[in-house]
Amino acid sequence: MTREEILQIIEDKNIQFFRLQFVDILGFMKNVAIPKSQIGKALDGDMMFDGSSIDGFVRINESDMYLKPDYSTFTVLPWRNKDGIAAARIICDVYKPDGTPFSGCPRNNLKRVLAEAKELGYTMNVGTEAEFFLFERDEDGLPTTITNDTAGYFSLDPDDMANDCRREIIETLEKMGYEIEASHHEVAEGQHEINFKYADALAAADNTVTFKWVVKSVAAKYGLHATFMPKPIFGINGSGMHTNQSLFNLDGTNAFFDESGPLKLSKTCYSYIAGLLKNARAFAAVTNPLVNSYKRLVPGYEAPVYSAWSASNRSALIRIPASRGMGTRTELRCPDPACNPYLAFAMMLSAGLDGVKNNLTPPPEVKHDIFEMTGAEMAAENITTLPANLKEAIEEFKAAELSKTALGPHIYEKYIVAKEKEWDSFRTCVTDWELEKYLTIY
Ligand code: GLU
Ligand code: MG
Ligand code: MG
Repeated sequence: MTREEILQIIEDKNIQFFRLQFVDILGFMKNVAIPKSQIGKALDGDMMFDGSSIDGFVRINESDMYLKPDYSTFTVLPWRNKDGIAAARIICDVYKPDGTPFSGCPRNNLKRVLAEAKELGYTMNVGTEAEFFLFERDEDGLPTTITNDTAGYFSLDPDDMANDCRREIIETLEKMGYEIEASHHEVAEGQHEINFKYADALAAADNTVTFKWVVKSVAAKYGLHATFMPKPIFGINGSGMHTNQSLFNLDGTNAFFDESGPLKLSKTCYSYIAGLLKNARAFAAVTNPLVNSYKRLVPGYEAPVYSAWSASNRSALIRIPASRGMGTRTELRCPDPACNPYLAFAMMLSAGLDGVKNNLTPPPEVKHDIFEMTGAEMAAENITTLPANLKEAIEEFKAAELSKTALGPHIYEKYIVAKEKEWDSFRTCVTDWELEKYLTIY
């Protein structure tokens, strides 16, 4: 989309409010809202903001930052239309006053890693499956963990009260240009999934953060609270964000497909799988960023626990979906929707490319249910476990050279500070579990 086309839409649709969006290191979408009179300036990348109050951005004395809009991300916000007055947004990259990209901007960083992949002859395509819960609010409007339906997996039950809300989410996304492939009720009560078409990694990250925002905004209209928290309720499935990923050659062919390879997968695909498996413990702190993330990665709830791959088995960390040709891809099943997709894609791509550059070979495919295997059987097949908690994940992340190269030194350091603080606050908190277990018997 060109500057002129955007200005035309602004006139045609009577857009009076314009949001300049960017994401912080933790993946939260931030925005600066500007009135119509400032749109020209904003489209020229001349809007300045104070970066010092944004998590993980800059120190006080170097706080001026510029927002450079990416025209391809311009979109009208269908749920913000009031009395014929419309609103739109555009996603921006954060630049320093000297005109160079700011290395603490996760979007800039993903672009940097994608440019490195291009040097090797590859582009990356990504499709995310972010699951979420719809919860009721109490009389004060605060979110509860009460689900408003009793439906189950792929349910058609008329009790599925969230149907209308889900439908409006889909309609809104379609108006914004998303191609919705499927939507269904997930396994747990109140849990949903909406699948949209894959895109190149940068657009997929933009689409993923926008998707979460749309889901939350539309749910709020229905008086519901949508959450992407990985494990909101103990004892039932949590929410994952399976990440389908593939490398494409620069001529547009799928680099993972090989008609004559085993399972019709190429050597590049096998090496990419090997790279993901090798580095899974290092990237977990990014793909599974919360204390709560590790309550999801336990046996029994369709979430992965062990580092293994399989063409079919859903207990594995990496599954190879059945489609071949252009649709050939790996599905990494550990990420959860609390992750910052810009950072997570940068880590996953770097992990996979580590395998490709070093010609790594993955261990054999695991065909049986890993949860049925004994420790000795797993050791014999070289199967390791994902980190058990955020602390373990931070240590692995810190120690891995990959983290620094994939995120750059600025984000690497700020990320560790933020996550250690989070762990420490959890570690020192006295939980309900402790009170229930200990208060009366000690
Ligand atoms: N909700 C499951 C998880 O935590 C995934 C279910 C599925 O296979 O879609 O990853
Ligand atoms: Mg699912
Ligand atoms: Mg899936």
